[in-house]
Amino acid sequence: MLWNEEFETLPREALEALQLKRLKALVEKEYAAVPYYRQKMDEAGIKPADIRSLKDIRRLPFTTKEDLRKNYPFGLFAVPFERVVRIHASSGTTGKPTVVGYTRRDIDTWAELMARTLCAAGAHQGDVVHNAYGYGLFTGGLGAHYGAERIGAAVIPISGGNTRRQIMIMQDFGSTVLLCTPSYALNIADVMKEMNVQPSSVKLRVGLFGAEPWSENMREEIERKLGIKAIDIYGLSEVMGPGVASECIEGKNGLHVFEDHFIPEIIDPETGEGLPPGEAGELVFTTITKEAFPVIRYRTRDISRFIPQPCLCGRTFFRMQRITGRSDDMLIIRGVNVFPSQIEHVLMSVEGVEPHYQILVEREGSLDVMEVRVEVSEDIFSDEVKILEKLGKRIEREIKDLLGVSCKIKLVEPKTIQRSEGKAMRVLDKRKI
Ligand SMILES: [Zn+2]
Repeated sequence: MLWNEEFETLPREALEALQLKRLKALVEKEYAAVPYYRQKMDEAGIKPADIRSLKDIRRLPFTTKEDLRKNYPFGLFAVPFERVVRIHASSGTTGKPTVVGYTRRDIDTWAELMARTLCAAGAHQGDVVHNAYGYGLFTGGLGAHYGAERIGAAVIPISGGNTRRQIMIMQDFGSTVLLCTPSYALNIADVMKEMNVQPSSVKLRVGLFGAEPWSENMREEIERKLGIKAIDIYGLSEVMGPGVASECIEGKNGLHVFEDHFIPEIIDPETGEGLPPGEAGELVFTTITKEAFPVIRYRTRDISRFIPQPCLCGRTFFRMQRITGRSDDMLIIRGVNVFPSQIEHVLMSVEGVEPHYQILVEREGSLDVMEVRVEVSEDIFSDEVKILEKLGKRIEREIKDLLGVSCKIKLVEPKTIQRSEGKAMRVLDKRKI
């Protein structure tokens, strides 16, 4: 289902002409209004007039999280402060948070993009949207909220946490659309089971899951356990919040980037060079319609690749593959690059293994040792030790085959790994280097 047919199906040529026009305006604006960007462009020897084609975007300097930190809190805002109507911030894991601002028009654009996202998942007027993304400084809750109102759905602004109450409300209010992190969706499924609530007794039809990387196998798990269709959505506060890219329910294979508002690039995270279509690398976004806090070539650290083939839904926007890891959450184990999502991929393909796991990395002497703790189902855990050992060995072998690095598997009892009520804590890196 399309929310904005005109823009979502623009022929590529018209779309690229629109992108170029908007890119030129953005670069001129940043150069004039933000001293930090002007200085960076001067240092790179590029002026706004040098942007003549879309390819020229590659001549512009990148923006990194470090640039945002240096300009904390409002140094990169491109409008007079009186025009800012909303401020969000991402939970900084180190030091100060990353601060982003929105004008009235930005909020309007955001609602439009989340309306497109919800529509792409098949949501519509009359739906009851159970919004379990966190409300507050985090962009997830309010971002999704405005989009759901825009399409005319009834929104339950339940936010995260208190899972038993969530399930009661889901049953009583007749929630049809679920929004939360994929790990929280699995948590909801587990608690439903504990409460003896059958998935068929709730009206949920579809879920839109994002804010953390997840795998195709996790999708199958969520769909089976909750009896719904699971859609992958993507966004980050530095670029907008949720509503940057979304899967369509027709294709369910890769996320359409809303390219009339964002120009995506895939680069080699080591060299910064652009990669040919289809190759995996780091996602970079330029926001071409934002007013208060536009960014030029923002390095997301998320790993993806473009899917150049057209999609059967009719959207002309490029698709990006689901995020397969983070270039900075990447673990280097004995010289090998390891993304937690790769390990998850192996675990989810094994029968009897639950989608709850934790990766523990330690250094013994001078050697990195990786242990993966993973929950197994009740039936498997009560089986003979020999069967458990065999299962552990099999997973060790499969991880070794995929990553080229060996690890120790520890199978643990169901419900012994701490559950997330937001983003899952997948990695415990205890190495002191
Ligand atoms: Zn599609």
